[in-house]
Amino acid sequence: MQASSTSPPAFSWDDWYSSVGGRTIKIVEVDEILYQIREYQYPKFKGALNQQQTVFENIAKASEAVKQKAFALGADEVGIAEIEATDIYKGREVNEKYAIVVGQRMLWRSFQEVPSQESAIECLRIYFSLGEIVIALAAYIRSLGYACTVEHPIGDSDVLHIPLALKAGFGELGRHGSIIHPKMGPLFRLGSVITDMPLAIDHPIDAGIAAFCDNCKACRIYCPAKAIPDERSVEAGKDHLGNYRYKVDTGKCFPYFAKHNYCSACLPVCVYHHKEWAKDFEGFKTKLFPAVDMQEPPTPVDPDIHKHKYPKLNR
Ligand code: SF4
Ligand code: SF4
Repeated sequence: MQASSTSPPAFSWDDWYSSVGGRTIKIVEVDEILYQIREYQYPKFKGALNQQQTVFENIAKASEAVKQKAFALGADEVGIAEIEATDIYKGREVNEKYAIVVGQRMLWRSFQEVPSQESAIECLRIYFSLGEIVIALAAYIRSLGYACTVEHPIGDSDVLHIPLALKAGFGELGRHGSIIHPKMGPLFRLGSVITDMPLAIDHPIDAGIAAFCDNCKACRIYCPAKAIPDERSVEAGKDHLGNYRYKVDTGKCFPYFAKHNYCSACLPVCVYHHKEWAKDFEGFKTKLFPAVDMQEPPTPVDPDIHKHKYPKLNR
């Protein structure tokens, strides 16, 4: 399947960073994890395919087996969606029909201060950890006799994880542009495995989160770059519930993000996160609300290069 005319072009982080004056984040641990992902994980994306195919009683049983495996590997959430042309980056071709989307939550204790080196390292730690899960999940699917492709949480992905995760029932899009899961809140990351293995799909949910966002503006108030909007935007299109999306101003967010440890302030201040924060105690002393270091934002830029524009979900 090819990307549709409304598919977004692949996002070029390198171009973005150079257009906003470069990435000034220098954290040894972050660089080390990026190195590990590139050198250690990327070569493990491919593997031998079992020529003897396991046939499941029905597609529900097949989905159950795949999900159980993902949870056993350390996923905090798993959902399955059918891939549509608008879920594929422009210029890419995807032959697989289904995406198994995997989420893993980040630790609340690492977001007690934002932006911070600790929160930046936690983002990368989860990217690596999710990478391990999708690589092992792909190996499992191949062992069942079905070909599949690893779509790592960072790197040269063919598909857009966020629209797929919305279709797979992960949650709803928040004012801050990230998915809010009813239990995990927004403090999690995504990766996928795509395959033709016959599977039962999940469905988008309406947990009242988007409606809640219309009255809550915590992320907007605490965004140091003033990038989070007051109103929904017709230009941003509708989400799966028929609401116009909130359109985060990436021309303001990214220059800040690039200079301040990937910022991330909008995630831990999101009130939806606090429903689960207590689970992160495990003996660690944590606060209910993070300290947000709000520095003067750099001059907004809006480079003339491609951005993510999530297409309307036709559901
Ligand atoms: S990452 Fe920071 S700058 Fe960007 S939208 Fe969130 S709070 Fe604002
Ligand atoms: S902080 Fe409030 S407005 Fe922002 S995404 Fe979370 S719930 Fe929605």
